[in-house]
Amino acid sequence: MSSENKEAAAPSDFIRDIVEKHVAEKKYPQIHTRFPPEPNGYLHIGHAKSICLNFGIAHEFGGICNLRMDDTNPTKEDVEYVDSITEDVNWLISGWASQNLGLKSKGKTPDTSTSNGKPDFHLAPAFGSAAVPAAAASPGPEPSKRDAPETGALLEPFYASDYFDQLYEYAIALIKKGQAYVCDLTPEETDEYRRQAKESPYRNRRVEENLDLFTRMKNGEFPDGKRSLRAKIDVTSPNVWMRDPLLYRIRHAEHHHTGPKWCIYPMYDFAHCLSDYIEGITHSICTLEFEVHRPLYDWILENLDLPRPLPHQYEFARLSLGYTVMSKRKLMQLVNENLVSGWDDPRLPTISGIRRRGVTPEALRNFAYNIGITKYNGITDVAVLEHAIRDDLNKRALRRLAVLRSIKVVLTNYPEGKIEELDAINNPEDPAAGTRKVPFSRELYIEQDDFREVPPPKFFRLKPGGEVRLKYAYIIKCDEVIKDAGGRIVELRCTADLDSKMGGATANRKVKGTIHWVSAAHAIDAECRLYDRLFTEAEPEKDGRDFKTVLNPHSLEVVTAKCEPSLKDARPELRYQFARLAYFALDKDSTPGKLVLNRTITLKDTWAKDARKG
Ligand code: ATP
Ligand code: MG
Repeated sequence: MSSENKEAAAPSDFIRDIVEKHVAEKKYPQIHTRFPPEPNGYLHIGHAKSICLNFGIAHEFGGICNLRMDDTNPTKEDVEYVDSITEDVNWLISGWASQNLGLKSKGKTPDTSTSNGKPDFHLAPAFGSAAVPAAAASPGPEPSKRDAPETGALLEPFYASDYFDQLYEYAIALIKKGQAYVCDLTPEETDEYRRQAKESPYRNRRVEENLDLFTRMKNGEFPDGKRSLRAKIDVTSPNVWMRDPLLYRIRHAEHHHTGPKWCIYPMYDFAHCLSDYIEGITHSICTLEFEVHRPLYDWILENLDLPRPLPHQYEFARLSLGYTVMSKRKLMQLVNENLVSGWDDPRLPTISGIRRRGVTPEALRNFAYNIGITKYNGITDVAVLEHAIRDDLNKRALRRLAVLRSIKVVLTNYPEGKIEELDAINNPEDPAAGTRKVPFSRELYIEQDDFREVPPPKFFRLKPGGEVRLKYAYIIKCDEVIKDAGGRIVELRCTADLDSKMGGATANRKVKGTIHWVSAAHAIDAECRLYDRLFTEAEPEKDGRDFKTVLNPHSLEVVTAKCEPSLKDARPELRYQFARLAYFALDKDSTPGKLVLNRTITLKDTWAKDARKG
């Protein structure tokens, strides 16, 4: 594989400008970001944008970034998702920002030098931990047993649920200050009261009563929905999030990480800002829909009288990509209704699907860097992603000869039993990749598309009576078309110009077309899965349409390709270009006895061509 693939230069945007200013001012001892997914599904390419932003900032400014499971809702979350998220983040940052990953381990001190010479490991919790009320007496996140890895191997993520004890103590602190109360309205009533800017009749409960009821909520005395803890802020605020929002609710449910310990769970808004604080996050970066939550984020931190500095929230526009759907809820629908083969179906925009398809982390990071960070929501053209993938694969892919839909060619003037080993270039972009031998013989396969009995104008491939060059080999001429009883073409009888091979007398003779081929006797079969866009429309949900009505029925086609024999040694970490066709990567279903390859992307943008054709 080529080592020439360069990482895109660090971009500049409004968030990085802010961070840069803070670094210059020495506002914080160290920049500390986090990526906080909820483990309620697999990560998608939108999350990749956020991962590249948060880890990118840590990487560029000598900081650290925590991977934190935002796991406050026990009924929707699962360890399967925790594991897949950890794997996906690790895959995306490995060898790039893995040295900037926040560590829970307090064991061995890892290598502290980075390319920019700044320290890059930091042991969380940072300054935030000092501020936990004494009563909490919680040790904070469990120190990891694992040592820091040599080269960014899998590390344990942080969990918001590890802070449940501390969060509970923070809630008690707010109650004691008269800034939180236990409310007996039902969830529906609470919503209605907040909509109408009405005070709850329980708003003015005494502190002692609130403390007693909250303790009993925690002890499991009440059923789900019976009571809640709410912040006492301002029910008439123009920002509904400030209208006495819920801080805790009752959920008698086991949690994937804390087990049966809790039956009250903190709400996102309460848990998130405090988790940021506990971990010493300086820049809490999230998508635009959280902008309206920011006053609440600040209110909670400020009203707990925590030692400064406090983390600050910054918002950017989420990624929306053409020809796909993004939210975990919708992706789950596709998975659960068997419209795709699983979360890692190569047609999905999930990180695991994209990885399985054969896209490299470098390509995904370059894409994330290229699209930039703004404050404006919009749809990114999928061509931008496809360009990043082609650009990356062009540099690294090993070229191979393979025929996806074959038609037999017999060279009538080529000796039977003769085999030539021809030299073929592995990667014209990377001379170090060298050459290999490809066997040539009397019977070959070529692509059905490379022959036309009745050719359209300017068809420079093979036609009756016409000539074409076989890549790395001879010029051939089609003399005869053999058909079966049904009129289907089964074989082409051709003659080769036996002097036209490289070094031969007629080697420089010009013919307009060059096509690829495989020696029939030497060909090995491979199942090739040809993927296309999952939807036929750029905006599957436009005007409220059900996205399932515009699924592309041709998003997967499976063919048995005839491949040059060297592909029997295909390796999962390598990428291949089938000459003139597409890029391929080995699928996890591949076995030594049966090759299975995924088409990552075609060489050219066939959609743009089709669109031009109208
Ligand atoms: P989804 O709707 O897909 O479930 P989410 O926002 O609920 O997305 P989280 O697990 O909460 O998913 O997201 C973790 C982080 O990733 C958050 O900071 C969120 O803002 C960010 N994120 C989620 N979707 C996108 C996206 N499309 N583009 C950029 N960042 C995103
Ligand atoms: Mg969500």
